[in-house]
Amino acid sequence: MTQRDPACRAIEPLISGALDNELTQQQRQQLHLHLGSCEACANLYRELAEQRGAVKLGMLPPESDAETPSVRLWNRFGFGLLVLGLIPLVLYAIYQFSQDATIPWWIKLTTAATILGLLLLFINVLRQRLKAAKTDPYKKVKL
Ligand SMILES: [Zn+2]
Repeated sequence: MTQRDPACRAIEPLISGALDNELTQQQRQQLHLHLGSCEACANLYRELAEQRGAVKLGMLPPESDAETPSVRLWNRFGFGLLVLGLIPLVLYAIYQFSQDATIPWWIKLTTAATILGLLLLFINVLRQRLKAAKTDPYKKVKL
């Protein structure tokens, strides 16, 4: 049983091919025969299969963390809290502002326009976020 057997070297690409489901019927039989008689390759196959299995079971690379359901849920929760806190705060500020007789009417008007503009932008961002969750964000974003 030598590990550098030429037959083993020929089998190695079949092992990864089998894990990717890319083998023909004939190649699968060839691999099966070899694994039955060669312990080194059978061990290699098990190791690689375990690695693939770990990836499938959710041990994903770090950049995919943003897409896991729990992270999405917490994002939504935080965003919801932000909206819940922001709306009464803005309404209260507008109310206080409009009741203040020392502020000229034109400042009230331009400030109201600014707040309305910010609110519209905010709603637009919200709609884009919802849309981006379903479709490609680079295709359908409109400003
Ligand atoms: Zn072998």
